[in-house]
Amino acid sequence: MTELADIYEEIILDHHKRPRNFREMPECTCSAEGRNPLCGDEVKVFVRLEGESLSDVTFQGQGCAISRASASMMTGKAKGQTAGEARRFSLRVREMLLGPKCEPPEELGDLKALSGLRKFPTRIKCAMLPWQALEAALSGRPEAGTK
Ligand code: ZN
Repeated sequence: MTELADIYEEIILDHHKRPRNFREMPECTCSAEGRNPLCGDEVKVFVRLEGESLSDVTFQGQGCAISRASASMMTGKAKGQTAGEARRFSLRVREMLLGPKCEPPEELGDLKALSGLRKFPTRIKCAMLPWQALEAALSGRPEAGTK
């Protein structure tokens, strides 16, 4: 358990305890749900698009500290980006967790705290869930595919 405890860094705990943008958004333009049966995580992501820009991004749901922290950080990053930028950013996160090992790019900011999850394949699903839900929402799909 000590090794697992290592991944619960200060940043992750902070986002878990005080998730940012944690609310429903009835006026959203698109939304999508993601489920991770392995862990029991459920997340629903709400996006408000104004032109190409994501003017607001929020989430709801319940899950472990990792999925919640990742969702909290995701909403903060995606807000203000264009749909294309948000997709590219999502890819960066995926590469950090699943790609060849390398130093995470600086632009990931707080999300670099999740890089320690590389060692825990089951937790990577938790971390990717909100990003998959975001991608699904932007693609007009109601649910994120579980991969
Ligand atoms: Zn989880």
